[in-house]
Amino acid sequence: MFEIPPDSHYMQLPREVLIGNNVAGSIGRTLTRLGFKGPALVVTGPKVMSIAGNIITNSLKRAGFKSPIIIVQNATTAQVMKVQREIKRTKPDVVVGLGGGKDIDVAKLSSMKSGTRFVSVPTAASHDGIASPVVSMKGGNRPYSYAAHSPIAIAADTSIIARSPYRLIASGCGDVVAKYTAVRDWKLAHRIKNEYYGDYAAELALMSARLVIKNASSIRAITNSGVHTLVEALISCGVAMSIAGTSRPCSGAEHLFSHALALIAPRPALHGEQCGVGTIICAYLHGANWQLIREVLHRINAPITAKELGIDSEYIVEALTKAHSVRPERYTILGESGLTKEAAQKVASITGVIG
Ligand SMILES: [Zn+2]
Repeated sequence: MFEIPPDSHYMQLPREVLIGNNVAGSIGRTLTRLGFKGPALVVTGPKVMSIAGNIITNSLKRAGFKSPIIIVQNATTAQVMKVQREIKRTKPDVVVGLGGGKDIDVAKLSSMKSGTRFVSVPTAASHDGIASPVVSMKGGNRPYSYAAHSPIAIAADTSIIARSPYRLIASGCGDVVAKYTAVRDWKLAHRIKNEYYGDYAAELALMSARLVIKNASSIRAITNSGVHTLVEALISCGVAMSIAGTSRPCSGAEHLFSHALALIAPRPALHGEQCGVGTIICAYLHGANWQLIREVLHRINAPITAKELGIDSEYIVEALTKAHSVRPERYTILGESGLTKEAAQKVASITGVIG
């Protein structure tokens, strides 16, 4: 990493963003346009390889790229090291992360550690990691995110994303709606803890939440424009993080709640699903319009209760009492000592999350 001069603000942004039907087939031309020449290492998962692998490798072949492929199983530090070894062996000019959040996270982190540039080709719209400069990794020493680098290009093929399981799309909506409370927490930390706050990044994250709220019905119907809106919102959230230089505009107490659930629930739900439910609760704590969030998530057919998450109420309450301690330096509406069990029970039942 280079040194950033003091009192300056550094932003690393994607250079090309392609969103639309069948854009995965133009990945080869995109890499050529960006000036890449050497091999393009494709990092993907076994399932995704069978769905979209050929589209990518054929496109790369047509553009004259050698494209070695490495299959990863999950987002763990062991898999990142495996890909780093492959980068060392095949010496790619660029790493192409193809798949859902896990495949992209492994591609993003391993390419950064190897000093290689990275292109994101998401096949699902389940969370904002498809364009952000952060990753979530298992097997490290913390349950939340690590700083990485921004993709130099993103090719989000809406025809592939629209065919992914609807649950992933609904989860992506939960992750976007979460910005409604994340930005409120960021403002609070700015006022109370004097933390850096950037209006532009905050507004961009909030606008993404507003657009998903406004287009909930067309997203639910998986229309072309609905899927397009969600993908744009997720990419804009990633860009908001790049502009802020922190995940702050996109991750507040609702995310801490989700991270706590991931640690304690025997069978956690999807990241965005948990964040959506967390947003209902945190909106209530902020005195904001929690009913709107609940109604929108319901319309999208995303979970709004413990039962719909498939998680017992006791874990919801426990996660609410522990969320503040997951990442203590991240000040939120939960404060420094968190919610008591009684308060957690109360807020979860008022908002209808527990019965
Ligand atoms: Zn998230």
